[in-house]
Amino acid sequence: MEQKTTVISEAALARQQSFLALIRQYWQSRGVTPAAFVDTYGCQQNEADSERIRGMLAQAGYGFLPSAEGAELVVINTCAIREHAEQRVLGNVGALVHVKRRHPEQKIFLCGCMMGEPHVVERIRTSYRHVDGVFSPHHLWAFPEQLYGILSGGARSFVTEDVPGSIAEGIAQLRDNPKKAWVSVMYGCNNFCSYCIVPYVRGRERSRRPEDILAEVRALISGGCRDITLLGQNVNSYGKGLDAPIDFSDLLAQVAELPGDFLVRFMTSHPKDATRKLFDVMASHEKIAKHIHLPFQSGNDRVLAAMNRGYTAAQYRALVDYARSVMPDLVLTSDVIVGFPGETTAEFEDTLKLMEAVRYDALFTFLFSPRSGTPAATMPDPVSKEEKQQNFDRLVARQNEISAALRRQDVGKTLRCLIDGRDGELLTARTAGGRLVRLPGEDALIGEYCSIFITDANTWSLLGTVAE
Ligand code: SF4
Repeated sequence: MEQKTTVISEAALARQQSFLALIRQYWQSRGVTPAAFVDTYGCQQNEADSERIRGMLAQAGYGFLPSAEGAELVVINTCAIREHAEQRVLGNVGALVHVKRRHPEQKIFLCGCMMGEPHVVERIRTSYRHVDGVFSPHHLWAFPEQLYGILSGGARSFVTEDVPGSIAEGIAQLRDNPKKAWVSVMYGCNNFCSYCIVPYVRGRERSRRPEDILAEVRALISGGCRDITLLGQNVNSYGKGLDAPIDFSDLLAQVAELPGDFLVRFMTSHPKDATRKLFDVMASHEKIAKHIHLPFQSGNDRVLAAMNRGYTAAQYRALVDYARSVMPDLVLTSDVIVGFPGETTAEFEDTLKLMEAVRYDALFTFLFSPRSGTPAATMPDPVSKEEKQQNFDRLVARQNEISAALRRQDVGKTLRCLIDGRDGELLTARTAGGRLVRLPGEDALIGEYCSIFITDANTWSLLGTVAE
């Protein structure tokens, strides 16, 4: 299914800048410094989108609050990946009616993937009358105009037309952490895995131009950023449809060759599109983190075919074997779904076998739950909930043992880590492979690379001390 990409013109983006200036004037004329609460659900793509929303709002003069209470503006950036998460979002949006009663001038906007689902938008329109505005991911760039329309007395507004996927360059981002950054390299997905809603709500794949990505990364590095994650639903198909012939490995190499003290990583990789060339590039560049998140989802070929994943378990294993042959210290993480419709316990055993063979550093484990609007939601599913739960518990217990054993191997080593924050008494840091390390130390170390001597380990994290 081909879908044209619209690159939003400079003139259209300049027009949005003028609405940001009008919003600023609106608040200045009232003598108010407005505050916003931006709440984000879901994946890193949503985190990156929320950074853009905050970037635009900061330009319009908004400060930020940690909750909706007292905020002039509330923006809820929603996630559609799981049905029960959707219910939670709707519950929280419903509860905002009480907050708004205390602050009648408050404006409430909803955006993100749920707003790409027409039945959800309809429900908001009819049953959530306290919501002032809704925009789907394709229309994020035009949020300033929509917000100004509402502030200046316009009617509730729903900007959700299913337009061709768009790319808007140059929107300011207000990043949570100046030392770590997400950089979107592409948007959307073409794969239509049978359980996934993403291609329906985020549109088809479209890649940013390499020169725009490199300019963004250069600016981040010169601003002191140390850890950069290139982001896309399926980064390995980057480059399709661009004028210049380029694939993701080429882009990754170009980023890694930029001057500066930083590490670059990426997510997510689809095994169907990951190539030996990608692993060769990773192996040959010091600045590329030796970590890959490579979702396998199932170790059984019938289930993989029913998921429409496009590879077999043997092909996946061969890919991992090659990657480890060129990067013996590679850290592998993955996603797995247990209880896909019709998955028997015998088929589940293949998933356990693959997991045992690969020995992942960490696994994101999901017990299948049907997502309406996807083919998997209507597949026959005779396997009982109890059986699925038992299989799921077995898998989680075994993975915890493997994770703990792999972390214990780090005890006694000295690892170079980026110290990225504080959690209570201890600083937190990440190894190049993404493992969490806790250590005593001063806040002045946050944002620095340090050699850390690892003194102890548990299932999820390492303990250490600064070695230099
Ligand atoms: S690759 Fe599959 S699981 Fe990932 S976003 Fe695309 S359709 Fe969804």
